Amino acid sequence: MLIEHYALDVFTPPDGTGAEKFTAIARLTTDISEALPYLNATLHGAVYQRAANALTWKKGGHHLTFHATQIAVGNVEDYDVALAEIDELIALINRTWDHRAEITPNYETRQRPPLMAIYKLLPHTNCQQCGEPTCYAFAIKLAAAQTALAACAPVFEPHQAEKLAALQSIGC
Ligand code: SF4
Repeated sequence: MLIEHYALDVFTPPDGTGAEKFTAIARLTTDISEALPYLNATLHGAVYQRAANALTWKKGGHHLTFHATQIAVGNVEDYDVALAEIDELIALINRTWDHRAEITPNYETRQRPPLMAIYKLLPHTNCQQCGEPTCYAFAIKLAAAQTALAACAPVFEPHQAEKLAALQSIGC
């Protein structure tokens, strides 16, 4: 286990400003720098900046940033969600670290796939099975790593195999 202790700050939106989202910061007593390349290798849509020793990721609409001794979660709906998200992230980091022998660390900064390249390869049926109103709306979220390709069931049908392979080859 890499992270055993941390202190938590949750910043609530100030009254009357129109701000609605919470931010939580876990301050770690352990340096997790060495875990970041392993997270980069395993988290879909993560962006690792080696020079800055930081990794960003989006999960369920939350904005996540991992630094050497700090994890920040932004754009969170309420206090309890912030606490739960931090707990999940700590468990994720510990799990990844415990299994690092099975993971090839990735030190590269992964580029997000371009929106139009994604859109061209989607089925264009606007069937809404992914929960989005159109394929284009889904492509926007996929390009921003706010959803996963797995949410589009039609692209996994056999006749879409070539497009699926192309989507996967550009990092979706
Ligand atoms: S499930 Fe796939 S095909 Fe259907 S609307 Fe979403 S992206 Fe388009």
